[in-house]
Amino acid sequence: MVVEVPARCVIGVDLGGTKLLAGAVDPERLTVHHRTRREVFGISQAALLDAAVDAVQEASDAVGGEVDAVGFGIPCTFDRKRGVAVQAVNLPLADLRFADIMSERLGLPVEVDNDANCAVWAEARAGAAKGSPDVALLTIGTGIGGGLVLGGRLYRGWGGAGAELGHMVVDIDGPPCQGNCPNWGCLEAVASGTALVREAALRVAREPDTPLGRFLEEGRPLTGPLVTELAFDGDPVAATAVRVIGERLGVGIANLVNIFNPEVVVIGGGVIAAGELLLAPARAVLQRRALAPAKDMVRVVATSFGAESGMIGAALLAADPGAAE
Ligand SMILES: [Zn+2]
Repeated sequence: MVVEVPARCVIGVDLGGTKLLAGAVDPERLTVHHRTRREVFGISQAALLDAAVDAVQEASDAVGGEVDAVGFGIPCTFDRKRGVAVQAVNLPLADLRFADIMSERLGLPVEVDNDANCAVWAEARAGAAKGSPDVALLTIGTGIGGGLVLGGRLYRGWGGAGAELGHMVVDIDGPPCQGNCPNWGCLEAVASGTALVREAALRVAREPDTPLGRFLEEGRPLTGPLVTELAFDGDPVAATAVRVIGERLGVGIANLVNIFNPEVVVIGGGVIAAGELLLAPARAVLQRRALAPAKDMVRVVATSFGAESGMIGAALLAADPGAAE
């Protein structure tokens, strides 16, 4: 097999809450020529930066060093006026001139944006919402990331800190949010992958004589993928936990639909592995709670780039930063 390596690549890096994914991307054909991962859960800021540099160098070496630029998607709020990554909810990053530091260490132009902003850019340019000028995206993983494309542009807000859709409040007296978020009752607090596991734990404690209960009895750890797998198998506790998370997600989507009237709402992140088990209850709640005609116009769909949307979007932003402005 002949592996075709493009003349020039951009490297996209998606820094998630637990792992880093980097790829050498051909921005014209949207093909990924080399992928590499690093575990970053629980490591220090210095180790995180080292892991990012190391992953970029591996991807660059794999395509013979023919790299034009590097894009990073990081789960952080930004002050674009000062070029500072200000605060991450679920990673050890704070008040960091991330683009300057990386550009100096890599010797290449660097673009940085919020990871979900990168993901929505990929989906709106070339993925599940291709060609649509008005798109909202939620990535349901450790937390809930949010991104908006409005009028064909990536919406970053006045200072670059938008669009943290996961921190909209959907339960005014709800549970405390995660990490550095001071709020409570955020969509992230009740409908993230973390919330899915918590929901399943609460329910299985009351109904231990179920497939999920027996797996836990055998010592298997309770994780989002296990809950999803058992929900597909028809386990009542797991299926209910996924449905409840889908319904809560539907409340958040109803808010987005009322406010922005998007053509497409894209759902990504690890929890979208549940597919229609998550999306069908979300759409039902959207129909019950949002306003016409926006609720009847919108499509609520799964990401088409899957776990790679942030990485591909970061690469697209690095290849042509002006297209998003
Ligand atoms: Zn929050």
